Amino acid sequence: MPICFDLDGTLGHFSSGFVLLREALGEVWGETPTVEELRLCRGSTDWEIVDDLHRMRFGRELDEPGYTAYEAACIARFRVTFAPGAQKAQRFAGVLEGMHRLASCHQVWLVSGNAPGLLAFKAEVLGVDAAIPRLGSLPRHDRTDLLRRALRGCPGPHLYVGDRPHDLLAAQAAGMPFVGIGEAVPGDHPCLAPDSEAGHLVAAVEAALKGLP
Ligand SMILES: [Mg+2]
Repeated sequence: MPICFDLDGTLGHFSSGFVLLREALGEVWGETPTVEELRLCRGSTDWEIVDDLHRMRFGRELDEPGYTAYEAACIARFRVTFAPGAQKAQRFAGVLEGMHRLASCHQVWLVSGNAPGLLAFKAEVLGVDAAIPRLGSLPRHDRTDLLRRALRGCPGPHLYVGDRPHDLLAAQAAGMPFVGIGEAVPGDHPCLAPDSEAGHLVAAVEAALKGLP
């Protein structure tokens, strides 16, 4: 019964993430992609975004070594930016605690658009239990593919907790109910504020799993 959680905007917030992504690509490619180029990207996962930017710059698909080079450069920037005593990531403490409570009686996964190594770093900074499996952005996978991969072989019901319209669309495509965090993803599903208490998240998820409004 996997309950999947997005990370950025759902469990916490790392400011300047897209600045660091562009800087990392600037280091690897020798020229930094522009904000306008970033706006033209259609996907919501690191592979999709970096692949789109790569096609704009070089006219061909990104490959695995290129993705690995991006990932390493990006993690290095995040490690410096969010080092102890430097910039602080924002933790949504109640949502995090609620996720950990749910993990005591359900299978819980992190399913995020971050490259896998970056997801591992962010999850550690936010204090996510190491026993919760992480599934980050894989080559040629969109977010729906990632959700389907997390669900593979696991009996339902399943559920996705996210903060953006692309999370809702991916949940719908994968046939999963959805719980929203924040105001960016209105709809018929339950929505909770980022500063909600743990018990509210647990109650909303349990109700949605039972098909209750
Ligand atoms: Mg998000």
